[in-house]
Amino acid sequence: MRTTAPSDRPTALVIEDDETIGSHLQSGLRGNGYRCAWSRTGAAGLTQARTTPTDVVLLDLGLPDIDGVDIARSLRAEHPDLLLVILTARSDDIDVIAGLDAGADDYLVKPFSLTVLLARLRAHLRRRPPTPTDTPALHLGDLTLDAAARRCLIGDQEVPLRPKEFELLAVLARHHGTAVSREDLMAQVWDENWFGPTKTLDVTIASLRRRLHTAAATLPAPHLPAITTLRGHGYRLQLTASPRHQNDDS
Ligand code: CA
Repeated sequence: MRTTAPSDRPTALVIEDDETIGSHLQSGLRGNGYRCAWSRTGAAGLTQARTTPTDVVLLDLGLPDIDGVDIARSLRAEHPDLLLVILTARSDDIDVIAGLDAGADDYLVKPFSLTVLLARLRAHLRRRPPTPTDTPALHLGDLTLDAAARRCLIGDQEVPLRPKEFELLAVLARHHGTAVSREDLMAQVWDENWFGPTKTLDVTIASLRRRLHTAAATLPAPHLPAITTLRGHGYRLQLTASPRHQNDDS
């Protein structure tokens, strides 16, 4: 669950029963721009993650109440976007593998350096695209795209979009006026490890254009951004000066 505003500090949660390590982590994270909560049991950590928007969890595997691997699994199931890093005193590969399989993004074996931990967190957070809730509503002519509310409006009319259509439009809108390659669109909307046929992208673009066109038909003189096909490259969403060039496949 990542609901941090763009200028906000990331929120970390430390789940660790060791007083020394827990307080070291909490003060280290707070001193480096994070908000930070600290739970000393697995149950308390799960409750904290459920009740407070959290970007990063640092999870000790050896907790007094619930096995850390089970907590990792629950956290991942409940908060798919969470950055989850396992901290383990166990250096056995099997524990690390179990933790990663349970949904952790990374791990550090104790004792670890705070500097290394902070660098790893920066690297992970940098690679993450902004979540929809990070993004204010975009207005492009008569088109309003409110990713936080997951609404697409043309004028005052709600445009019903399927999830992939919405995500595709959101990516194009975030880069409006700029060409976005097919690879980037596939990676951001479908699967970061995507390779292979990308026919599904064209099909989704076609249905997106249709839905926008249908909704625009209710306005007397709609002014909408066009989705332009860039042959051999990708697509570009751009607000054209003239309302006559809408949604054309040039
Ligand atoms: Ca422990």
